[in-house]
Amino acid sequence: MDFKQYVTVVEDFPKEGIRFKDITTLMENGEAYKKAIEAMTEFAHGREIDVIVGPEARGFVVGCPIAVALGKGFVPVRKAGKLPREVLEVDYGLEYGKDSLNIHKGSIKPGQRVLITDDLLATGGTIEATIKMVEKMGGIVVGIAFMIELSYLDGADRLQDYDVFTLMTY
Ligand code: AMP
Repeated sequence: MDFKQYVTVVEDFPKEGIRFKDITTLMENGEAYKKAIEAMTEFAHGREIDVIVGPEARGFVVGCPIAVALGKGFVPVRKAGKLPREVLEVDYGLEYGKDSLNIHKGSIKPGQRVLITDDLLATGGTIEATIKMVEKMGGIVVGIAFMIELSYLDGADRLQDYDVFTLMTY
């Protein structure tokens, strides 16, 4: 399936010079969304995985259906101030901004094999912060799956030590 035809490229959002890849038009199409998740779940098959971890909000859109398809748990990574219990916090840089990410302490057990998911790899800052949190808790990152990779931003260079899957590359 040509998944790109379902992604809408929006010029200058959220600020000038950014070509925003809007996956909501892919999600609106039941068949395209299902096939995209199936392809990403296929990557997870054959790898021993205990739990899926994804950053808000589009990491949930991708990670939760994969977790359900695999019968595994899902652990959310969220922006500061959103998780109700004690958290581990890591700062990170974005293609268009800076922020910090949180994960519930104890949500990943030492030795657990983790698949990280997100909609899009840009600079890799978000995923690098997510990896850092998982590894700090003793988790083992056995794979990272994206719907989209922006190859012109070289985010993949930061993930060279990991097994990375991407459905679409721009
Ligand atoms: P990064 O940390 O730079 O890899 O940024 C990744 C996160 O920012 C992803 O979770 C995306 O949701 C969002 N993002 C960054 N750049 C874009 C873009 N050009 N289009 C859509 N989403 C983007």
